Amino acid sequence: MSAADCIFCKIVAEEISARIIYQDDELIAIEDINPAAPVHILLIPRKHIPSLNEAGLDDADILGHLQLTAARIANGQGIAASGYRLVSNCGEWGGQTVMHVHYHLLGGRELRWPPG
Ligand code: 5GP
Ligand code: ZN
Repeated sequence: MSAADCIFCKIVAEEISARIIYQDDELIAIEDINPAAPVHILLIPRKHIPSLNEAGLDDADILGHLQLTAARIANGQGIAASGYRLVSNCGEWGGQTVMHVHYHLLGGRELRWPPG
């Protein structure tokens, strides 16, 4: 899938609407359309990177920024103390359905481990 027909690129370009939690020059954080927990936020880099498999060393800063922003948002959402999960699905067996790197921030309920 190219950037042209990528749903997250369209959200970044505001061609598709989303409930935006936070945004800056590098990333956008939105509510997941199909939440799996009371708090389910997606952190999406503005840059189209299909998956972590395609991420390079020059993407290290943005990947770190995504993680640290997730922690800040968790604090703002009131789930930092109770705990949360930050996960990035990669590829078919990892359960990735949108081929544009993103992290899921999940919280607001006790999460089980290991995932199914
Ligand atoms: P993945 O399965 O790739 O790890 O995660 C993709 C996530 O994107 C899913 O949790 C799915 O619910 C969410 N999603 C897919 N399309 C849209 C959309 O158009 N808007 C929003 N807000 N979330 C979406
Ligand atoms: Zn994209």
